[in-house]
Amino acid sequence: MDFLSEKVKNLTPYVAGTQPLGENWIKLNTNENPYPPSPKVMEALQNADIAKLRLYPDSDSRELCRAIANQLNVSPENIFCGNSSDEVLALAFQAFYSGKTNILTPDISYGFYPVWGEMYSVGFNVQPLREDFSVNIADYKNSKGVIIANPNAPTSLALSLPEIEQILRQNPDGLVLADEAYIDFARFESAVPLIKTHENLLVVRTFSKSYSLAGLRVGFAVGNPALIEGLKRVRDSFNSYPLDMLAQLGATAAIQDSKSLAKTTKRVIATRETAIARLNELGYRVLPSQANFLFMEAENAPALYQHLLGNKILVRHWNKPRINNFLRVSVGTEQEMEAFIQCVKQQ
Ligand SMILES: *Cc1c(COP(=O)(O)O)cnc(C)c1O
Repeated sequence: MDFLSEKVKNLTPYVAGTQPLGENWIKLNTNENPYPPSPKVMEALQNADIAKLRLYPDSDSRELCRAIANQLNVSPENIFCGNSSDEVLALAFQAFYSGKTNILTPDISYGFYPVWGEMYSVGFNVQPLREDFSVNIADYKNSKGVIIANPNAPTSLALSLPEIEQILRQNPDGLVLADEAYIDFARFESAVPLIKTHENLLVVRTFSKSYSLAGLRVGFAVGNPALIEGLKRVRDSFNSYPLDMLAQLGATAAIQDSKSLAKTTKRVIATRETAIARLNELGYRVLPSQANFLFMEAENAPALYQHLLGNKILVRHWNKPRINNFLRVSVGTEQEMEAFIQCVKQQ
């Protein structure tokens, strides 16, 4: 007996990078941070009043919103918190794009966008990136919406703030969603300050990458209050308490420790630059990354992927047009990257 609905039968779900069981893997496949979160997170979780778990958490994560707003120099009414940025993005698709057509997005970007597109009946107008994987901003105009990861994944390239601003101006009637999962690793600035002048901008961020909290599942959106209210309408039609009490406590502690964030991202960026230089010396082309991962070209990418896997080094490869001769490699510790490079050399 097949109980699946027609819609679900026809879905092509997103395939996340594997979380392998067992020890001794070098895990460079999901862009996790190789360093632990701020010690303030540990402190906050250890001091949590566990008896309070009998109560529902704050539906609006007000303390966390206030802490985020303080750091970003916006008001708490500009913040919406969710159980991961994937969830915030899914709610945004429902709130702003559902049933619409001509939503512009690059041909090579985060693999979850087309899945939500199918799930929530969004019509995309896919724009090919240039040969060098850069975004041609002239392609993004007069639409009902734009979704762009900045820096982009898996390409690792980013748009500058003036370029984002031009996309906002070119789409006055469309919501522009900037997915800034990797912005803390970028040379270019975040688009957050532009929410004050552009009511069609929603910025989505996550604690998973730069804050080393992928396991806590916290993400948020920044935008004008009308957009935040729109997200709450969908949330309250789905799950009124998306963030548990511990997640709210941990993320609040993390965002307040900007020193720890700066230290960790600086370390990852330094390792990234060394790894790119080493791979270039070995003759590999690597895109100029503004994220915590490398997008490297390898003629023999599937074979290299297998060779690495055989040595317990996990990276990502997509058998997709234009990128099937590339590997995406998360930036690990210095030692992990050294092991990766040695393994690449052996092949
Ligand atoms: C990792 C990633 C996310 C998801 O982050 P979570 O908050 O862990 O769900 C969203 N967008 C992009 C582009 C990512 O790479």
